[in-house]
Amino acid sequence: MISDIESFINGGCAAADCEAYGVYPRSLHTAEGVTAFMAALEDRDVLAASAGSGFSGEPLRAGGADWVVCRLDHDNAQRLRALFPFTAPESVLTRERTIGLGDRLGIATPGHIRTLEKYDASPIFAQQSIRELTLTNRTFEDVLDCASWAVFREDFTRGFGADGDHLKTEKEVEYAISCGYTMITLDCSEHIRGDAAAMTDEQVAAEYRGDPALEALYMNREFDADGERIFIGENAFRRMSLIYNEAIDFAVSIYKKFFTGEKTLDFEISIDETATPTDPEQHFYVASELIRRGVKPATVAPRFCGEFQKGIDYIGDLKQFEKEFAVHAAIARHFGYKISVHSGSDKFSVFSIVGRLTRGNFHLKTAGTNWLEAMAVVAEHDPALYREIHQYALEYAFEKATAYYHVTTNLNNIPALDTLTDAQLPELFANNDARQLIHITYGLILSEKNPDGTFRFKDRLYRDWRVYAEEYAQRLERHIGRHLAELYSEF
Ligand code: ZN
Repeated sequence: MISDIESFINGGCAAADCEAYGVYPRSLHTAEGVTAFMAALEDRDVLAASAGSGFSGEPLRAGGADWVVCRLDHDNAQRLRALFPFTAPESVLTRERTIGLGDRLGIATPGHIRTLEKYDASPIFAQQSIRELTLTNRTFEDVLDCASWAVFREDFTRGFGADGDHLKTEKEVEYAISCGYTMITLDCSEHIRGDAAAMTDEQVAAEYRGDPALEALYMNREFDADGERIFIGENAFRRMSLIYNEAIDFAVSIYKKFFTGEKTLDFEISIDETATPTDPEQHFYVASELIRRGVKPATVAPRFCGEFQKGIDYIGDLKQFEKEFAVHAAIARHFGYKISVHSGSDKFSVFSIVGRLTRGNFHLKTAGTNWLEAMAVVAEHDPALYREIHQYALEYAFEKATAYYHVTTNLNNIPALDTLTDAQLPELFANNDARQLIHITYGLILSEKNPDGTFRFKDRLYRDWRVYAEEYAQRLERHIGRHLAELYSEF
Protein backbone atom coordinates (compact mmCIF):
# COMPACT_ATOMS: atom_id res chain seq x y z
CA MET A 1 0.00 0.00 0.00
CA ILE A 2 1.06 3.58 -0.59
CA SER A 3 0.66 4.24 3.14
CA ASP A 4 3.35 1.60 3.75
CA ILE A 5 5.72 3.44 1.46
CA GLU A 6 4.91 6.62 3.37
CA SER A 7 5.63 4.95 6.71
CA PHE A 8 8.87 3.53 5.37
CA ILE A 9 10.04 6.98 4.31
CA ASN A 10 8.85 8.57 7.56
CA GLY A 11 11.02 6.03 9.38
CA GLY A 12 14.06 7.29 7.45
CA CYS A 13 14.16 4.50 4.80
CA ALA A 14 15.74 2.13 7.30
CA ALA A 15 16.95 -1.16 5.88
CA ALA A 16 15.50 -2.95 8.90
CA ASP A 17 12.00 -1.71 8.00
CA CYS A 18 11.98 -3.03 4.42
CA GLU A 19 10.23 -6.28 5.04
CA ALA A 20 7.48 -4.79 7.21
CA TYR A 21 6.59 -2.25 4.52
CA GLY A 22 6.85 -4.37 1.39
CA VAL A 23 10.04 -2.68 0.22
CA TYR A 24 12.55 -4.80 -1.71
CA PRO A 25 15.54 -4.60 0.64
CA ARG A 26 18.25 -4.64 -2.01
CA SER A 27 16.50 -2.00 -4.10
CA LEU A 28 17.38 0.88 -1.79
CA HIS A 29 19.80 3.08 -3.75
CA THR A 30 21.07 6.63 -3.76
CA ALA A 31 22.82 8.46 -6.60
CA GLU A 32 23.31 12.15 -7.36
CA GLY A 33 21.30 13.07 -4.26
CA VAL A 34 18.37 10.90 -5.34
CA THR A 35 17.03 8.14 -3.11
CA ALA A 36 15.03 5.43 -4.87
CA PHE A 37 13.65 2.04 -3.98
CA MET A 38 11.11 -0.47 -5.19
CA ALA A 39 8.10 -1.71 -3.28
CA ALA A 40 5.40 -4.30 -3.84
CA LEU A 41 1.82 -3.12 -3.93
CA GLU A 42 -0.81 -5.80 -3.97
CA ASP A 43 -1.02 -6.16 -7.73
CA ARG A 44 2.20 -4.57 -8.97
CA ASP A 45 5.63 -3.25 -8.12
CA VAL A 46 6.38 0.46 -8.05
CA LEU A 47 9.39 2.71 -7.77
CA ALA A 48 9.52 5.43 -5.13
CA ALA A 49 12.03 8.21 -5.74
CA SER A 50 12.90 11.68 -4.51
CA ALA A 51 10.87 14.28 -6.37
CA GLY A 52 12.75 16.26 -9.00
CA SER A 53 14.82 13.19 -9.90
CA GLY A 54 13.46 12.95 -13.42
CA PHE A 55 11.10 10.06 -12.67
CA SER A 56 7.44 10.73 -13.25
CA GLY A 57 4.65 9.45 -11.03
CA GLU A 58 2.19 10.30 -8.30
CA PRO A 59 3.45 12.92 -5.83
CA LEU A 60 3.87 11.85 -2.22
CA ARG A 61 4.79 14.00 0.77
CA ALA A 62 6.65 11.90 3.33
CA GLY A 63 9.49 12.26 5.82
CA GLY A 64 9.41 16.03 5.33
CA ALA A 65 10.28 15.79 1.64
CA ASP A 66 8.64 15.41 -1.75
CA TRP A 67 8.62 12.03 -3.45
CA VAL A 68 7.07 10.42 -6.47
CA VAL A 69 5.61 6.92 -6.69
CA CYS A 70 6.16 5.68 -10.22
CA ARG A 71 4.96 3.02 -12.57
CA LEU A 72 7.62 0.74 -13.99
CA ASP A 73 7.09 2.10 -17.47
CA HIS A 74 9.50 2.72 -20.32
CA ASP A 75 10.21 6.41 -19.62
CA ASN A 76 11.00 5.67 -16.00
CA ALA A 77 13.18 2.73 -17.04
CA GLN A 78 15.14 5.08 -19.32
CA ARG A 79 15.65 7.44 -16.41
CA LEU A 80 16.67 4.51 -14.19
CA ARG A 81 19.36 3.45 -16.66
CA ALA A 82 20.71 7.00 -16.87
CA LEU A 83 20.81 7.51 -13.12
CA PHE A 84 22.00 4.01 -12.15
CA PRO A 85 24.25 2.83 -14.98
CA PHE A 86 24.47 -0.72 -13.65
CA THR A 87 20.84 -1.15 -14.75
CA ALA A 88 21.78 -0.48 -18.38
CA PRO A 89 23.04 -3.35 -20.52
CA GLU A 90 26.65 -3.44 -21.65
CA SER A 91 28.93 -5.51 -23.84
CA VAL A 92 29.77 -8.64 -21.84
CA LEU A 93 30.44 -11.28 -24.48
CA THR A 94 34.20 -10.84 -24.36
CA ARG A 95 34.13 -12.13 -20.79
CA GLU A 96 35.09 -15.77 -20.40
CA ARG A 97 31.75 -17.30 -19.51
CA THR A 98 28.41 -15.90 -20.53
CA ILE A 99 24.90 -17.27 -20.39
CA GLY A 100 21.81 -16.06 -22.21
CA LEU A 101 18.74 -16.27 -20.00
CA GLY A 102 15.84 -15.41 -22.26
CA ASP A 103 12.90 -14.42 -20.09
CA ARG A 104 9.76 -14.53 -22.19
CA LEU A 105 7.53 -13.50 -19.28
CA GLY A 106 9.56 -10.63 -17.85
CA ILE A 107 9.63 -12.18 -14.36
CA ALA A 108 12.59 -14.59 -14.30
CA THR A 109 15.54 -12.29 -13.63
CA PRO A 110 15.37 -12.28 -9.80
CA GLY A 111 15.70 -16.08 -9.81
CA HIS A 112 18.52 -15.92 -12.34
CA ILE A 113 20.37 -13.40 -10.21
CA ARG A 114 20.29 -15.81 -7.27
CA THR A 115 21.84 -18.54 -9.39
CA LEU A 116 24.59 -16.22 -10.54
CA GLU A 117 25.64 -15.49 -6.98
CA LYS A 118 27.42 -18.85 -7.04
CA TYR A 119 28.95 -18.62 -10.54
CA ASP A 120 31.09 -16.01 -12.24
CA ALA A 121 29.32 -16.27 -15.63
CA SER A 122 28.04 -12.97 -16.99
CA PRO A 123 24.37 -12.93 -17.93
CA ILE A 124 22.45 -11.74 -20.94
CA PHE A 125 19.18 -11.08 -19.12
CA ALA A 126 17.37 -9.55 -22.09
CA GLN A 127 17.47 -12.04 -24.94
CA GLN A 128 14.63 -12.36 -27.34
CA SER A 129 14.10 -13.23 -30.96
CA ILE A 130 11.56 -11.52 -33.17
CA ARG A 131 9.61 -14.78 -33.18
CA GLU A 132 9.45 -14.70 -29.38
CA LEU A 133 8.46 -11.03 -29.34
CA THR A 134 5.64 -11.72 -31.77
CA LEU A 135 4.41 -14.79 -29.92
CA THR A 136 4.41 -13.03 -26.55
CA ASN A 137 3.19 -9.68 -27.86
CA ARG A 138 6.16 -7.88 -26.40
CA THR A 139 8.72 -5.34 -27.64
CA PHE A 140 12.49 -5.08 -27.30
CA GLU A 141 11.90 -2.04 -25.08
CA ASP A 142 9.69 -3.96 -22.70
CA VAL A 143 12.03 -6.95 -22.50
CA LEU A 144 14.97 -4.74 -21.60
CA ASP A 145 12.93 -2.64 -19.15
CA CYS A 146 11.95 -5.78 -17.22
CA ALA A 147 15.61 -6.75 -16.96
CA SER A 148 16.64 -3.27 -15.79
CA TRP A 149 13.99 -3.14 -13.06
CA ALA A 150 14.96 -6.58 -11.79
CA VAL A 151 18.67 -5.71 -11.79
CA PHE A 152 17.87 -2.57 -9.77
CA ARG A 153 15.57 -4.43 -7.41
CA GLU A 154 18.17 -7.10 -6.68
CA ASP A 155 21.19 -4.78 -6.83
CA PHE A 156 23.00 -6.87 -9.45
CA THR A 157 26.00 -4.71 -10.33
CA ARG A 158 28.23 -7.14 -12.27
CA GLY A 159 26.88 -6.04 -15.63
CA PHE A 160 24.55 -7.76 -18.05
CA GLY A 161 23.99 -7.83 -21.79
CA ALA A 162 20.92 -7.47 -24.00
CA ASP A 163 20.74 -9.71 -27.07
CA GLY A 164 18.56 -9.10 -30.10
CA ASP A 165 18.44 -12.80 -30.84
CA HIS A 166 18.12 -14.44 -34.25
CA LEU A 167 17.69 -11.19 -36.18
CA LYS A 168 17.41 -11.72 -39.89
CA THR A 169 17.23 -8.31 -41.52
CA GLU A 170 18.90 -4.92 -41.39
CA LYS A 171 15.67 -3.42 -40.08
CA GLU A 172 15.49 -5.83 -37.17
CA VAL A 173 19.12 -5.14 -36.27
CA GLU A 174 18.47 -1.42 -36.40
CA TYR A 175 15.43 -1.78 -34.13
CA ALA A 176 17.31 -3.76 -31.46
CA ILE A 177 20.27 -1.38 -31.46
CA SER A 178 17.98 1.65 -31.25
CA CYS A 179 16.48 0.11 -28.09
CA GLY A 180 19.93 -0.05 -26.51
CA TYR A 181 20.66 -3.72 -27.10
CA THR A 182 24.35 -4.50 -26.73
CA MET A 183 24.46 -7.75 -28.66
CA ILE A 184 23.09 -8.78 -32.00
CA THR A 185 22.76 -12.37 -33.03
CA LEU A 186 22.62 -12.30 -36.78
CA ASP A 187 20.71 -15.24 -38.12
CA CYS A 188 22.11 -15.92 -41.56
CA SER A 189 19.83 -18.86 -42.31
CA GLU A 190 17.94 -17.11 -45.10
CA HIS A 191 21.25 -16.59 -46.88
CA ILE A 192 22.49 -20.13 -46.44
CA ARG A 193 21.94 -22.49 -49.32
CA GLY A 194 20.91 -25.52 -47.31
CA ASP A 195 20.02 -27.52 -50.42
CA ALA A 196 23.66 -27.55 -51.51
CA ALA A 197 24.53 -29.74 -48.53
CA ALA A 198 22.61 -32.62 -50.08
CA MET A 199 23.84 -32.19 -53.67
CA THR A 200 26.20 -34.61 -55.40
CA ASP A 201 29.71 -33.32 -56.19
CA GLU A 202 28.66 -33.04 -59.85
CA GLN A 203 25.64 -30.91 -59.03
CA VAL A 204 27.79 -28.70 -56.82
CA ALA A 205 30.39 -28.31 -59.58
CA ALA A 206 27.68 -27.34 -62.05
CA GLU A 207 26.37 -24.54 -59.84
CA TYR A 208 29.67 -23.34 -58.47
CA ARG A 209 31.04 -20.04 -59.79
CA GLY A 210 34.78 -20.09 -59.31
CA ASP A 211 36.58 -17.30 -57.49
CA PRO A 212 40.32 -17.72 -58.16
CA ALA A 213 41.32 -15.53 -55.22
CA LEU A 214 39.31 -17.61 -52.76
CA GLU A 215 40.42 -20.86 -54.35
CA ALA A 216 44.03 -19.85 -53.86
CA LEU A 217 43.34 -19.14 -50.22
CA TYR A 218 41.47 -22.30 -49.32
CA MET A 219 41.23 -25.00 -51.95
CA ASN A 220 43.39 -28.05 -51.33
CA ARG A 221 45.01 -26.35 -48.42
CA GLU A 222 45.68 -27.47 -44.91
CA PHE A 223 45.33 -25.26 -41.85
CA ASP A 224 46.22 -25.51 -38.24
CA ALA A 225 43.57 -24.25 -35.84
CA ASP A 226 45.02 -24.33 -32.34
CA GLY A 227 46.47 -27.79 -32.90
CA GLU A 228 43.58 -29.18 -34.93
CA ARG A 229 44.31 -29.98 -38.54
CA ILE A 230 41.76 -28.66 -41.04
CA PHE A 231 41.99 -29.74 -44.67
CA ILE A 232 39.71 -28.28 -47.32
CA GLY A 233 39.52 -30.41 -50.47
CA GLU A 234 38.33 -29.30 -53.88
CA ASN A 235 34.80 -30.66 -53.71
CA ALA A 236 34.38 -29.62 -50.11
CA PHE A 237 35.49 -26.08 -51.00
CA ARG A 238 33.04 -25.75 -53.86
CA ARG A 239 30.25 -27.01 -51.66
CA MET A 240 31.01 -24.68 -48.75
CA SER A 241 31.25 -21.73 -51.13
CA LEU A 242 27.85 -22.54 -52.48
CA ILE A 243 26.31 -22.98 -49.04
CA TYR A 244 27.88 -20.04 -47.19
CA ASN A 245 29.19 -17.31 -49.52
CA GLU A 246 26.00 -15.31 -49.59
CA ALA A 247 25.65 -15.60 -45.81
CA ILE A 248 29.23 -14.34 -45.40
CA ASP A 249 28.47 -11.34 -47.63
CA PHE A 250 25.36 -10.63 -45.59
CA ALA A 251 27.21 -10.81 -42.27
CA VAL A 252 29.97 -8.53 -43.58
CA SER A 253 27.47 -5.93 -44.79
CA ILE A 254 25.58 -5.87 -41.47
CA TYR A 255 28.82 -5.65 -39.53
CA LYS A 256 30.15 -2.73 -41.59
CA LYS A 257 26.88 -0.88 -41.24
CA PHE A 258 26.27 -1.27 -37.50
CA PHE A 259 29.38 -2.44 -35.69
CA THR A 260 32.18 -0.11 -36.64
CA GLY A 261 30.97 2.90 -34.64
CA GLU A 262 32.10 4.09 -31.24
CA LYS A 263 29.81 2.02 -29.07
CA THR A 264 31.03 -1.50 -28.26
CA LEU A 265 28.47 -3.99 -29.48
CA ASP A 266 28.79 -7.75 -29.45
CA PHE A 267 28.28 -9.46 -32.78
CA GLU A 268 27.22 -13.07 -32.94
CA ILE A 269 26.91 -14.92 -36.21
CA SER A 270 24.44 -17.73 -36.12
CA ILE A 271 24.50 -20.40 -38.78
CA ASP A 272 22.73 -22.91 -36.54
CA GLU A 273 19.22 -22.86 -37.98
CA THR A 274 20.06 -25.00 -40.98
CA ALA A 275 19.01 -28.42 -42.17
CA THR A 276 22.42 -30.04 -41.77
CA PRO A 277 25.22 -29.70 -39.20
CA THR A 278 28.11 -27.33 -39.82
CA ASP A 279 31.26 -29.38 -40.59
CA PRO A 280 34.34 -28.13 -38.75
CA GLU A 281 35.91 -27.32 -42.18
CA GLN A 282 32.89 -25.19 -43.05
CA HIS A 283 33.05 -23.45 -39.70
CA PHE A 284 36.74 -22.71 -40.34
CA TYR A 285 36.04 -21.30 -43.77
CA VAL A 286 33.18 -19.05 -42.64
CA ALA A 287 35.19 -17.72 -39.69
CA SER A 288 38.33 -17.22 -41.72
CA GLU A 289 36.48 -15.29 -44.42
CA LEU A 290 34.63 -13.10 -41.92
CA ILE A 291 37.83 -12.18 -40.17
CA ARG A 292 39.75 -11.63 -43.38
CA ARG A 293 37.04 -9.18 -44.40
CA GLY A 294 37.26 -7.20 -41.18
CA VAL A 295 34.47 -8.70 -39.08
CA LYS A 296 35.21 -9.26 -35.39
CA PRO A 297 32.62 -11.67 -34.05
CA ALA A 298 32.28 -12.10 -30.29
CA THR A 299 30.62 -15.46 -30.79
CA VAL A 300 29.76 -17.87 -33.59
CA ALA A 301 26.97 -20.43 -33.36
CA PRO A 302 27.54 -23.41 -35.66
CA ARG A 303 24.95 -26.11 -35.94
CA PHE A 304 26.33 -29.15 -34.12
CA CYS A 305 25.70 -32.77 -34.98
CA GLY A 306 22.75 -34.41 -33.27
CA GLU A 307 19.61 -32.61 -32.21
CA PHE A 308 19.24 -29.64 -29.88
CA GLN A 309 15.49 -29.72 -29.47
CA LYS A 310 13.64 -27.31 -27.27
CA GLY A 311 13.52 -27.93 -23.54
CA ILE A 312 14.90 -31.48 -23.47
CA ASP A 313 18.32 -33.13 -23.32
CA TYR A 314 20.62 -33.61 -26.31
CA ILE A 315 19.59 -36.29 -28.79
CA GLY A 316 22.42 -37.93 -30.71
CA ASP A 317 25.80 -39.60 -30.57
CA LEU A 318 27.71 -38.06 -27.66
CA LYS A 319 31.06 -39.46 -28.82
CA GLN A 320 30.70 -37.82 -32.21
CA PHE A 321 29.50 -34.60 -30.63
CA GLU A 322 32.56 -34.50 -28.39
CA LYS A 323 34.93 -35.18 -31.28
CA GLU A 324 33.48 -32.47 -33.50
CA PHE A 325 32.97 -29.99 -30.69
CA ALA A 326 36.68 -30.23 -29.87
CA VAL A 327 37.48 -28.98 -33.38
CA HIS A 328 34.80 -26.25 -33.28
CA ALA A 329 36.22 -25.03 -29.97
CA ALA A 330 39.77 -25.03 -31.37
CA ILE A 331 38.65 -23.01 -34.41
CA ALA A 332 37.01 -20.45 -32.11
CA ARG A 333 40.21 -20.16 -30.07
CA HIS A 334 42.28 -19.83 -33.23
CA PHE A 335 40.21 -16.90 -34.48
CA GLY A 336 39.62 -15.35 -31.07
CA TYR A 337 35.91 -15.66 -30.39
CA LYS A 338 33.69 -17.92 -28.32
CA ILE A 339 31.48 -20.76 -29.40
CA SER A 340 27.83 -20.04 -28.79
CA VAL A 341 25.58 -23.00 -28.00
CA HIS A 342 21.97 -22.30 -28.93
CA SER A 343 18.88 -24.09 -27.66
CA GLY A 344 20.97 -24.76 -24.56
CA SER A 345 18.04 -25.35 -22.21
CA ASP A 346 18.29 -28.72 -20.48
CA LYS A 347 21.18 -30.15 -22.55
CA PHE A 348 22.60 -31.75 -19.43
CA SER A 349 24.54 -34.51 -21.15
CA VAL A 350 26.69 -32.09 -23.20
CA PHE A 351 27.36 -29.29 -20.68
CA SER A 352 30.47 -30.79 -19.11
CA ILE A 353 31.90 -31.38 -22.61
CA VAL A 354 31.17 -27.77 -23.59
CA GLY A 355 32.83 -26.44 -20.44
CA ARG A 356 35.90 -28.65 -20.74
CA LEU A 357 36.58 -28.35 -24.48
CA THR A 358 36.10 -24.59 -24.54
CA ARG A 359 38.37 -24.41 -21.45
CA GLY A 360 35.68 -22.48 -19.68
CA ASN A 361 35.18 -19.97 -22.51
CA PHE A 362 31.64 -20.38 -23.70
CA HIS A 363 28.34 -18.74 -24.39
CA LEU A 364 25.20 -20.75 -23.74
CA LYS A 365 21.70 -19.63 -24.64
CA THR A 366 18.65 -20.75 -22.70
CA ALA A 367 15.11 -19.43 -22.86
CA GLY A 368 12.33 -21.99 -23.00
CA THR A 369 13.29 -23.73 -19.81
CA ASN A 370 12.55 -20.55 -17.86
CA TRP A 371 9.01 -20.62 -19.20
CA LEU A 372 8.67 -24.32 -18.36
CA GLU A 373 9.73 -23.67 -14.77
CA ALA A 374 7.07 -20.96 -14.57
CA MET A 375 4.46 -23.43 -15.77
CA ALA A 376 5.70 -26.03 -13.27
CA VAL A 377 4.94 -23.46 -10.55
CA VAL A 378 1.38 -23.28 -11.89
CA ALA A 379 1.06 -27.07 -11.99
CA GLU A 380 2.13 -27.21 -8.36
CA HIS A 381 0.09 -24.35 -6.93
CA ASP A 382 -2.90 -23.90 -9.23
CA PRO A 383 -3.72 -27.38 -10.55
CA ALA A 384 -7.12 -26.38 -11.91
CA LEU A 385 -5.63 -23.70 -14.14
CA TYR A 386 -2.80 -25.99 -15.17
CA ARG A 387 -5.24 -28.70 -16.23
CA GLU A 388 -7.19 -26.22 -18.33
CA ILE A 389 -4.04 -25.02 -20.10
CA HIS A 390 -2.65 -28.50 -20.62
CA GLN A 391 -5.89 -29.60 -22.22
CA TYR A 392 -5.92 -26.54 -24.46
CA ALA A 393 -2.34 -27.21 -25.56
CA LEU A 394 -3.10 -30.82 -26.25
CA GLU A 395 -6.31 -30.33 -28.17
CA TYR A 396 -5.57 -27.15 -30.02
CA ALA A 397 -2.30 -25.30 -29.59
CA PHE A 398 0.30 -28.01 -30.12
CA GLU A 399 -0.51 -28.71 -33.73
CA LYS A 400 -0.46 -25.00 -34.54
CA ALA A 401 2.85 -24.44 -32.79
CA THR A 402 4.63 -27.20 -34.69
CA ALA A 403 4.44 -24.90 -37.71
CA TYR A 404 7.26 -22.81 -36.23
CA TYR A 405 9.05 -25.13 -33.78
CA HIS A 406 10.78 -28.32 -34.80
CA VAL A 407 10.18 -31.10 -32.28
CA THR A 408 9.67 -34.86 -32.47
CA THR A 409 7.13 -34.99 -29.65
CA ASN A 410 4.95 -38.05 -29.25
CA LEU A 411 1.80 -36.89 -27.50
CA ASN A 412 0.86 -40.51 -26.74
CA ASN A 413 3.67 -40.63 -24.20
CA ILE A 414 1.97 -38.04 -22.04
CA PRO A 415 -0.20 -39.57 -19.30
CA ALA A 416 -3.87 -38.60 -19.55
CA LEU A 417 -4.68 -35.76 -17.17
CA ASP A 418 -7.61 -37.56 -15.54
CA THR A 419 -5.27 -40.35 -14.41
CA LEU A 420 -3.13 -37.89 -12.44
CA THR A 421 -3.85 -36.47 -9.01
CA ASP A 422 -3.18 -32.78 -8.46
CA ALA A 423 -0.07 -33.67 -6.51
CA GLN A 424 1.25 -35.61 -9.52
CA LEU A 425 0.88 -32.74 -12.01
CA PRO A 426 4.38 -31.29 -11.45
CA GLU A 427 5.82 -34.69 -12.44
CA LEU A 428 4.69 -33.96 -15.99
CA PHE A 429 7.69 -31.65 -16.20
CA ALA A 430 9.95 -34.69 -15.98
CA ASN A 431 8.29 -36.12 -19.10
CA ASN A 432 10.03 -34.95 -22.30
CA ASP A 433 6.90 -35.08 -24.41
CA ALA A 434 4.86 -33.12 -21.88
CA ARG A 435 7.72 -30.61 -21.64
CA GLN A 436 7.67 -30.03 -25.36
CA LEU A 437 3.88 -29.82 -25.43
CA ILE A 438 4.00 -26.90 -23.00
CA HIS A 439 7.29 -25.53 -24.29
CA ILE A 440 6.32 -24.73 -27.84
CA THR A 441 2.75 -23.58 -27.16
CA TYR A 442 3.65 -20.59 -24.97
CA GLY A 443 2.64 -17.99 -27.55
CA LEU A 444 -0.82 -19.43 -28.05
CA ILE A 445 -1.36 -19.98 -24.33
CA LEU A 446 -0.45 -16.39 -23.52
CA SER A 447 -2.51 -14.82 -26.28
CA GLU A 448 -5.65 -16.99 -26.23
CA LYS A 449 -8.74 -14.82 -25.70
CA ASN A 450 -12.24 -15.37 -24.33
CA PRO A 451 -15.23 -14.42 -26.51
CA ASP A 452 -15.48 -11.13 -24.57
CA GLY A 453 -11.94 -10.17 -25.59
CA THR A 454 -10.27 -10.78 -22.22
CA PHE A 455 -7.31 -13.14 -21.99
CA ARG A 456 -8.29 -16.71 -21.32
CA PHE A 457 -5.17 -17.66 -19.33
CA LYS A 458 -2.67 -14.80 -19.28
CA ASP A 459 -4.05 -12.68 -16.43
CA ARG A 460 -4.62 -15.67 -14.17
CA LEU A 461 -1.10 -16.89 -14.93
CA TYR A 462 0.53 -13.59 -14.05
CA ARG A 463 -1.52 -13.43 -10.85
CA ASP A 464 -0.18 -16.86 -9.87
CA TRP A 465 3.36 -15.91 -10.76
CA ARG A 466 3.08 -12.85 -8.55
CA VAL A 467 1.74 -14.83 -5.60
CA TYR A 468 4.31 -17.61 -6.07
CA ALA A 469 7.24 -15.39 -7.07
CA GLU A 470 9.43 -16.86 -4.33
CA GLU A 471 8.70 -20.42 -5.46
CA TYR A 472 9.55 -19.46 -9.05
CA ALA A 473 12.83 -17.86 -8.01
CA GLN A 474 13.75 -20.99 -6.04
CA ARG A 475 12.96 -23.23 -8.98
CA LEU A 476 15.09 -21.14 -11.33
CA GLU A 477 17.95 -21.01 -8.87
CA ARG A 478 17.89 -24.79 -8.71
CA HIS A 479 17.29 -25.50 -12.39
CA ILE A 480 19.60 -22.96 -14.04
CA GLY A 481 22.02 -23.79 -11.24
CA ARG A 482 22.09 -27.37 -12.51
CA HIS A 483 23.01 -26.06 -15.98
CA LEU A 484 25.89 -24.04 -14.57
CA ALA A 485 27.08 -26.78 -12.21
CA GLU A 486 27.50 -29.12 -15.20
CA LEU A 487 29.11 -26.44 -17.38
CA TYR A 488 31.63 -25.67 -14.61
CA SER A 489 32.30 -29.30 -13.69
CA GLU A 490 35.30 -30.08 -15.89
CA PHE A 491 37.46 -27.06 -16.49
ZN1 ZN B 1 19.66 -20.56 -32.53
